Amino acid sequence: MDKYGILKHYFGYDSFRPGQEKLVDAILAGQDVLGIMPTGAGKSLCYQVPALLMSGITLVVSPLISLMKDQVGALNQAGVHAAYINSSLTDNQITKALAYAKQGRYKIIYVAPERLETWGFLDFATHVEISMITVDEAHCISQWGQDFRPSYLNILSFVKKLARRPIISAFTATATSKVRDDILQILSLERPVILTTGFDRSNLTFKVKHIKDKDSYILDYLVSHRQDSGIIYCATRKNVEKVYDMLNANGLSVTKYHAGLSAEERKENQDSFIYDIKPVVVATNAFGMGIDKSNVRFVIHYNMPQCIENYYQEAGRAGRDGEDSECVLLYSPQDIMINKFFIEHREPNPDIDAEEQARLMILDKRRLNAMVDYCKTTGCLREYILKYFGERPDNPEGGRYNCHNCSNCVVDEAEQEADEAYMYP
Ligand code: ADP
Ligand code: MG
Repeated sequence: MDKYGILKHYFGYDSFRPGQEKLVDAILAGQDVLGIMPTGAGKSLCYQVPALLMSGITLVVSPLISLMKDQVGALNQAGVHAAYINSSLTDNQITKALAYAKQGRYKIIYVAPERLETWGFLDFATHVEISMITVDEAHCISQWGQDFRPSYLNILSFVKKLARRPIISAFTATATSKVRDDILQILSLERPVILTTGFDRSNLTFKVKHIKDKDSYILDYLVSHRQDSGIIYCATRKNVEKVYDMLNANGLSVTKYHAGLSAEERKENQDSFIYDIKPVVVATNAFGMGIDKSNVRFVIHYNMPQCIENYYQEAGRAGRDGEDSECVLLYSPQDIMINKFFIEHREPNPDIDAEEQARLMILDKRRLNAMVDYCKTTGCLREYILKYFGERPDNPEGGRYNCHNCSNCVVDEAEQEADEAYMYP
């Protein structure tokens, strides 16, 4: 089977999306790659397709157990021999999985970066052929990224212990140049093919609303979008419960998701959202990683997120099917305080010393400031986001950039009039 055969047979697709094929080809030609593509662009296929065409095993370094589970679940369902080895398994299960892996039963193995440092894993890795190491969510390697994970720094020393250097491929949705340079340098990519697809998602309409009565706004929004699937993100579990209760009390059947719910409840609620039994979910940002629902028509942020990276990732879950969708951020000054509090009271990472910790806090605050700027700008919201990620959108008209599709570029008078009922006096 060739790459098209794999694409069709295992994944059911007839063609590659922009950027995918170039990365697949580069990997198959033996080159290192760095793929920088927005959420939903289809980064996984870029390494999964070549993984199935290479002789050895592909190791995928992934930061979250939930991500690994989703990916491996999907691969297994597609008939691909894949597994994860992580702390959700018992020691016994890990031993067994490693023994199977050593026998060559898995083509793709997902691991957290910490796993690479364990003796058992190294023993396995040095006894088999590893064709490729893929670093997913590769921005975790950079202290300039929003989710720095120190153990990502040790990936290269693992690679050096292998008999043969595998191809290294890295993928992220974070496009800032500092993060990109860190990935290239820390993973020591060799003459890599670097591919950045544009970050613009033209089917998304961005809106920022300075609204005091957020509950009424959301209630009216859901009533006028009754047929649609959507996500309402809140900053805290308490807010999730509050909004959830408010909507249910008003006869709207929605579901909820946050880390305070039991595992069963989370699974059940997630399924009822995915299968459109309850098409709207009220959730904290614990919801969404690895969730791939194509027909999400709106993502409303009840609270402002901590940074543009997070906002774009969460908002980007709307409109994966390419249909027009809305991303609405409800701004209130209190949300700055909530986020500052989160930043200042974050649990210290035991692997980072105090000085470093303080530096990261300053970075987080800078990112928060940019998020606040986004909420306050009178310029084009789309342009703001693209520039934040280092893109310079063409401006053939000259003057103020106009995307003709955000709440600062399109002034909808009827909507504005309706909004006034909820605004700050
Ligand atoms: P990312 O990691 O970039 O956020 P994913 O790899 O999770 O994105 O892919 C997002 C969605 O796009 C998935 O549902 C995936 O199946 C779909 N997808 C990826 N490549 C293609 C393709 N060539 N044709 C159609 N759908 C695709
Ligand atoms: Mg991904």
